[in-house]
Amino acid sequence: MAVPATLSISRARDFGQCRLLYRYRAVDRIPARPGVEAVRGTVVHRALDLLFELPPAERTGQAAPALLDQAWADVTAADPTVVFAVLPTADFPDARADAVPDAEQLTAAVARAQADVDAVRAGVDHLLAQAAALLDSYFTLEDPTRLQPQRREESVSVTLDSGLVLRGQIDRIEVAADGRTRVVDYKTGRPPGSGFESTALLQMHTYALILWRLSGRIPDLVRLLYLGDPMVLDDRPTAARLAIVEQRLDSVWQAIRGAAEAGQWPATRSRLCQWCAYRAACPEWGAPAIPLVDPVTGTGELLG
Ligand code: SF4
Repeated sequence: MAVPATLSISRARDFGQCRLLYRYRAVDRIPARPGVEAVRGTVVHRALDLLFELPPAERTGQAAPALLDQAWADVTAADPTVVFAVLPTADFPDARADAVPDAEQLTAAVARAQADVDAVRAGVDHLLAQAAALLDSYFTLEDPTRLQPQRREESVSVTLDSGLVLRGQIDRIEVAADGRTRVVDYKTGRPPGSGFESTALLQMHTYALILWRLSGRIPDLVRLLYLGDPMVLDDRPTAARLAIVEQRLDSVWQAIRGAAEAGQWPATRSRLCQWCAYRAACPEWGAPAIPLVDPVTGTGELLG
């Protein structure tokens, strides 16, 4: 069975949470109903990116809300199914063992959902009001008129010694005149509780590892900006710390390859299932798994 050639920290987390979730999302790429939290986060990220396209003096708290309509338009253009995030009762063609929606069915479902213009407008307004509150929080954490990021929304990847291609998308990279580098990411949720900081920082350490391997220099600071409950979480990555992260990600990659070779993608039920959009195709929720497709014959065989 073919597995993706690359690994990101998000997919590594999926695999750690539930192998069936990883298979559906990363291997089979089965469409799923977009979650409202994820879509709201994407809109806020896009609005902050648009903010930094303005001249520094114009990056104010007054200017930011006006960017949200453009941000929503951009996010919708990239993926029209996000409309389902603002219409919680609209029918989405959830994937099932005997029916995985194709592109045509998704397009038809989006058109049906968008036909309820008033409901879409109300849902979008509600989501953008929440996004505006998150932008307000952002301005309590830093002053963007004083910042000039070198790169934004930067896709990065590197091949590790093991052959694993590690990839990520970094919100902001800032480089001072003396070469000191700061890597920044926005989080629209709440900050981690006491004792869970290192788990939260794993994503930033992964980015630091990629940049280190690419440039030969470890970023001086990684920073998470939490907007849901305004807080800054900083860390100064070390070579020893990043070596441990590399080992962990290599182990996850070996486990993914092993699962693919064995065709074993068991479901693991947890409290996180409440946010999983594949419950209609999950044995842990009383539904048969979507059959694995035999790469030779193209036929399905229920193995998951
Ligand atoms: S509902 Fe839970 S157990 Fe089932 S695939 Fe999703 S995360 Fe895994």
